[in-house]
Amino acid sequence: MMTSNQKHKRLFGTNGIRGIPNDDLNVDFCMTVGKAIGTFFNGKIVLGSDNRLSKDMTLDAVNSGILSTGSETVYIGVLPTPAIQYYCKKHNMPGVMITASHNPPQFNGIKCIDSDGTELERSREEKIEDIYYSRNFKISSWEKIGRSFSDNSAFELYLNGVMDKINREKIRNRKFRVAVDTGNGAAYLTTPELLSRLGATVVSLNANPDGLFTSRESEPKPANLKYLIDLVKSGGFDFGIAHDGDADRAVFIDEKGDFIDGDRTLALFVKYYIKKGEKVVTPVSSSDSLEEICEPRGARVIRTRVGAPVVSRTMIEEKARLGGEENGGIIFGDHQYCRDGAMTLGIIMDIMAGEKRTLSSLIEELPEFYITRKTIPASSGFEEIAKALKDGFKGWEISTMDGIKLRKGHDWILARPSGTEPIIRLFTHSTSLKRSEEMSEQVQKILK
Ligand code: MG
Repeated sequence: MMTSNQKHKRLFGTNGIRGIPNDDLNVDFCMTVGKAIGTFFNGKIVLGSDNRLSKDMTLDAVNSGILSTGSETVYIGVLPTPAIQYYCKKHNMPGVMITASHNPPQFNGIKCIDSDGTELERSREEKIEDIYYSRNFKISSWEKIGRSFSDNSAFELYLNGVMDKINREKIRNRKFRVAVDTGNGAAYLTTPELLSRLGATVVSLNANPDGLFTSRESEPKPANLKYLIDLVKSGGFDFGIAHDGDADRAVFIDEKGDFIDGDRTLALFVKYYIKKGEKVVTPVSSSDSLEEICEPRGARVIRTRVGAPVVSRTMIEEKARLGGEENGGIIFGDHQYCRDGAMTLGIIMDIMAGEKRTLSSLIEELPEFYITRKTIPASSGFEEIAKALKDGFKGWEISTMDGIKLRKGHDWILARPSGTEPIIRLFTHSTSLKRSEEMSEQVQKILK
């Protein structure tokens, strides 16, 4: 991942440091990163984790590194990433989350959070990297070594934070029936409890924390949600919801058992949330439906590179209330500037209760665009891939905001190197599913 203008290898990808414990993410490395983090923040630091098997080793190593610099830490438990971020924001303290989000179970990761609850800006991550590589740590004398405390109030703080932003009474009156699949991940307590407090009848799947993710893979895509889809199809549910491992994302199944693409959930929120003169922020990878909804009502769509941190930053700069990605990661500025799976659930219930409609009927009315997603091993250089695409689709409009995007009307192709794994992510977009799948086949043939 090293680029020519960098003086050293980047540690942080698009969403923190990721690696395999006892391999690249070993104890020595984690402790050294902890020293760099402690030196940089130089104060009280919040710690939290998801429930991966390596969480204790990784967390303790990072914690030791931080304490050696004289900083104190407050451990708030196994919680969704947005719950940790909300705690940081409310207490005005920076934090570190030990998570590898939706990655396979062997991975873990270190993610830094700023004291306003946002993911650390790239320029500030670079400062931590500089400290790491220069070994310029602020190691304290023995009497000033930091101490570690714990606080179990984050769970209540988070649930109340979400519930304060929605119409609880209307939602309770609707008496929702909801099937939830937390995929053995960090939302195993928060999401079922939130639903119960909102008066819903809840049936939970995979709500046992399990760092092996034995029930399903952590990415909430249709192939991994077979049991949830079957359960909702069996009848009697208003909808189903599933999270990724650290529950900053949420995806939904409608009352008929149909999987709703994250892009369409985002479009639904834009439709019911965005008013005249407002702005919505989204990466180049989400569909044209956002412009189709916003432009007639005098609202604006601002496009960014892919990655939740850049979407959050742009939202703050542009004073946008809503932002999000096509993968089910949605950001509500009135709550906090980061993706939040439980807040996404709260808002969808708010819309459904307010409109007194079924989820499928709300989704049906959205503009019809389809995105086909594929991953390709990053065996050749990205320059080669970009050239092959330009040659294969001559005359198409080219954008290089992130990777390469080629467009003709509502047909577009986006290819970009992943920021978290050694793969190329390929998106094809059109007005019909058949056409987007055909385009995907065609591109894959060209790239072979
Ligand atoms: Mg995640």
